[in-house]
Amino acid sequence: MVQDIERQLIVFDFDWSLADQDSDRWIFEVLAPDIRRKMKTLKEEIQWTDLVAQSLRELHARGGTREQIEGALKIMPFHPAMIRGVKTLKDAAKPETTFFILSNANSVFISTILESKGITDLFREVITNRAEWDPSGLLKLSRRVDPSGPQHSCKVGCSPNMCKGDELDAFLERHKTDYQRIIYVGDGSNDFCPILRLRSQDMVLCRQYRGLQKRIAKEGEREGLKCQIRYWAGAWEVEEIFQGLPPTI
Ligand SMILES: [Mg+2]
Ligand SMILES: [Zn+2]
Repeated sequence: MVQDIERQLIVFDFDWSLADQDSDRWIFEVLAPDIRRKMKTLKEEIQWTDLVAQSLRELHARGGTREQIEGALKIMPFHPAMIRGVKTLKDAAKPETTFFILSNANSVFISTILESKGITDLFREVITNRAEWDPSGLLKLSRRVDPSGPQHSCKVGCSPNMCKGDELDAFLERHKTDYQRIIYVGDGSNDFCPILRLRSQDMVLCRQYRGLQKRIAKEGEREGLKCQIRYWAGAWEVEEIFQGLPPTI
């Protein structure tokens, strides 16, 4: 039976999905390329969130300031078509669209960038790693899942700092809203876990040539991926897909 879509949820990964760059790497490319190089060397041995936290301490120790980090975040590539696409859906009378950010970056990077684009209020929630400015100007970053407490039990390869699938389920549980359609916009290998939780009427908008596309090709069938799949390369294509979404399921 054909059913009108009254409410839909759009979940955004942040780096290389909502934003057109990777914030963790970008600030070091702008402010300290040698630290960026070191991260590339160390990323197989140190958990990524811990490595970014360590790199922020190193930047601070050599005199990097809060103003410099905020300045780098504000000039990070962010496609105007993505902003238009989100605003247009938000303004539409029907369906009612809720936006949710689910990211392995951190709360300060994301809020600084959203504020600089004037789009903070469009998002119902941002779930990510915790970060706060120390009075000294150090950005203190910690994993969403505290390493000294109970760990998540994800079996499909989420990093210890957070299981995005569990976080998506927890969001749906918290809000108790019946979304007739969920759309997940992602690019990375850690976006594979949450899309396994989607239903056949849901959709993943997968950025091409990156980790998520590879995992869908390799593991999608075996893991029972049920949602519809649309591929995109530039944000203008996400805007196009948003505009062409069918009003019914
Ligand atoms: Mg990403
Ligand atoms: Zn997971």
